[in-house]
Amino acid sequence: MIRNIGLDVDPPKSICEDHHCPFHGINPVRIRGRIFSGVIENDKMDNTVIVRQDYLKYSRKFNRYERATSHIPAHNPPCIDAKKGDRVRIAECRPISKTVSFVVVEKL
Ligand SMILES: [Zn+2]
Repeated sequence: MIRNIGLDVDPPKSICEDHHCPFHGINPVRIRGRIFSGVIENDKMDNTVIVRQDYLKYSRKFNRYERATSHIPAHNPPCIDAKKGDRVRIAECRPISKTVSFVVVEKL
């Protein structure tokens, strides 16, 4: 059974038994808060990826925008199984571990 996570995303084709999957978990993580898209920079951890986000930050000293990057650790459920280099959408959820409070919801 696929749960509606309240976002306009394509649900994954495969089914997993991950507790932290927003689509299939028994007590699934609920999506709330912010939504980002970014590119996966590191997929070496089990079910966790690092998503890179490029954004522009305003510098008051120079009165212009400067490029900035941030890295967000996100949970990668086995049914989505995003790999390094994929562009994904991540959504905020409750903290899954010490550093992870985002979950990958779709590949773009
Ligand atoms: Zn799943």
